[in-house]
Amino acid sequence: MSADISTNDICTIDGVIKNYGNFRALHGINLTVKEGEFVALVGPSGSGKSTLLQVISGFEAATEGTLTIDGEDMTNVAPADRPTSMVFQKLALFPHKTIAENIGFPLKLRKVSKAEIERRTLDMIALMQLKPEYLTRYPAQLSGGEQQRVALARSMISHPKLLLLDEPLSALDVKLKKVLQAELKRLHRSLGVTFIHVTHDLEEAMMLADHICVMKDGLLLQVGTPDDIYYRPTHKFVAEFIGETNLFPVTVENNRYVATDMAGIQGHSSFGPEAATQPQAYLMVRPEFVHMVGSGEKLDVTLDVIVSETFNRGSTTQVKAVTKDGGHLMTLEIQGHIDAQIIVGAEIRVGWRDEDTHLFDRATDTLQVAA
Ligand code: ADP
Repeated sequence: MSADISTNDICTIDGVIKNYGNFRALHGINLTVKEGEFVALVGPSGSGKSTLLQVISGFEAATEGTLTIDGEDMTNVAPADRPTSMVFQKLALFPHKTIAENIGFPLKLRKVSKAEIERRTLDMIALMQLKPEYLTRYPAQLSGGEQQRVALARSMISHPKLLLLDEPLSALDVKLKKVLQAELKRLHRSLGVTFIHVTHDLEEAMMLADHICVMKDGLLLQVGTPDDIYYRPTHKFVAEFIGETNLFPVTVENNRYVATDMAGIQGHSSFGPEAATQPQAYLMVRPEFVHMVGSGEKLDVTLDVIVSETFNRGSTTQVKAVTKDGGHLMTLEIQGHIDAQIIVGAEIRVGWRDEDTHLFDRATDTLQVAA
C-alpha cells in the first residue's frame, strides 16, 4: 500500500451510465478514488474499462450520472481543460517532433513560456531516467521502452491530478514490462499523483494497485485491496477471474453446507451460511488452502481424490485431482516438491479448513454473508 493516500476524494463517479446507441456499455458506475491512490480497472475484454476511462478523461460523455474531479463537476469541462492526462497502449508520440518537443507539447498548447517548458522537460527527463542527449533525437531512434518513458514524461509534464493509463504496458515484451511496472510504481510513489490504470494483466494489477476494481458487462462487481479481491471476493465471477479457485455446488442445510455429489462432505463456511436464505450455493476454496491429510494442518473436511496431473511450478507444485466418482476436478497447490508417491493415478486424501472457504449464492453468484 502506498503510504501517501490522503483522505481527500480526488474523483467521484456517481451513477454513470454510458450508452453507445442502443448498447449500454456502463450500467450505473459508482466509484470514489482518494487522492494519491493507485487504482487498477480489471475485467474481461468488453467489460467497459476503457469506456470508463474515456468518460473520466472527457473523450466520451456520460449518458447519465455525474463525474467530479477535485471537487469540480466535469460535465461541461472539455478534455483539454480537465486536470487529467492519458497514456495509451499505442504510443501517440509525434514521429516528426524531437523528444524534447514531444515531452514539452502539452505545455506549448497551454502557452507556457519557452524557458519554463525547457526547465520542466529536463525535470521530466530526470524523473523518467532518460538520457539528456535523447532530447534532440526522434522517437524512432529510441527503443520501445524508452519511447514509453517519453510518453509518460509527456503525460506528467502538465502536473495532472489524475493520470489515466489505458493498458500502457500491454504491447511490451515480458522483461521490459517488468522493468516499466517497477518504474510506474516508483513514479507513483515519488509524484503522489493519483493513477487510474486499465489492465487485463491481473498480476500487474495485484502488484501495482492500492485498490482493484473488477468490472464485468458494464458493472463494477467489487472494489477492494488486492487481498480483498483475492481472499474475500464478494462475487463468484471475481473469485474465478482473480487467480485459480475451486468451486463446488453445495446445498446449505441446518447451518452447514453439504456437497451431496462429493461423497456427502459437510462443513461450515466462514462467511455464513448461518443466515443463508438460498439453499443452493457454491463452495469456494483456493488451491493453496486445499491440503494433504498429514500435512500438519488441522482440517475440518476431508475426502479422497485421485491425482490426474502434477505441475512443477518452482517453489510450489500444483496438483490436479478428481473426486472418486470422477464428478469434480480439484486443484491443490503444495509448497515445495511433492512426495514421490503423488503420481498420476494415485489416491490421496485432501481437505480444508472451514475458515478458508466461502459460499456464493447460486441464484445471484454473490457472497452469502451472515446477517
Ligand atoms: P474494455 O476496455 O473493458 O475492453 P470497452 O470499454 O472498450 O471495454 O467496451 C465496452 C463495450 O462497449 C464493448 O462491448 C464495446 O464493443 C462497446 N463499445 C466501446 N466503444 C464503442 C463505440 N465507440 N461504439 C459502440 N460500442 C462501443
